[in-house]
Amino acid sequence: MKLYILGCMGPYPEKDCALSGYLIESQNAKVLIECGSGVLAQLQKHTEIKRLEALILTHLHFDHISDVFVLKYYCATHNLKLDVYMPQEDSLEYRLISSMPEFNVIHIDDGKDIKIKDLNINFIEMVHPKKTLGVKISDGQVILAYTGDTVLNPNLDILTDGAETVLMDCAYPTELHAPETPHMSLYQGAKYAQDKPFKLLVTHIKPEADIQQELDQLGLVRVYQGDIYKIIQGGYKLKNPR
Ligand SMILES: [Zn+2]
Repeated sequence: MKLYILGCMGPYPEKDCALSGYLIESQNAKVLIECGSGVLAQLQKHTEIKRLEALILTHLHFDHISDVFVLKYYCATHNLKLDVYMPQEDSLEYRLISSMPEFNVIHIDDGKDIKIKDLNINFIEMVHPKKTLGVKISDGQVILAYTGDTVLNPNLDILTDGAETVLMDCAYPTELHAPETPHMSLYQGAKYAQDKPFKLLVTHIKPEADIQQELDQLGLVRVYQGDIYKIIQGGYKLKNPR
């Protein structure tokens, strides 16, 4: 299974940066997780949009969904109806996406399991101002867990159990992290992953924050747009070293 980092910044971009977008590729399936601004342009460096089996949206914040509204035009032009897995909520964002005839919206909820070709995908509820589902993906050989946006919470143990690699929203510098911040800090991520059997990748990079020194101190690896990771037993391997 491969993980392509199409974009990893939020809630707004810096120059040349896309927001949240991750392509999962297994033997038989290509699934896009999150569709923030700039993601569709990055996706096409690796695959045609029409090759996607499905789109998963962990939650409906703009930095995770903004390209959905132009994906609609691609689908209309190519006569496609794309499966979009997303949480149900009473919001304008939900009503807009679910009313678009180009999308076949399928609700996801805590504990829901789905199968997309050779991928088994399990959703676990996280804690964020909007309903958010973490995603646990298995191709039968390895497991990748992605937290979506979240604060520290007990369900992280269920999400990360058995995973080789965990992609975690914790790119908030600890000095800028307040108790009400709806994301994890770098320190929280490092502490959480300590002594756990998985390898941690940190994402959702906060713009304008210089986090390199803290990453080095904590021994954390942040993802960069354009990274391609092969998920392997015991962790991951960066396929295109910078
Ligand atoms: Zn969010």
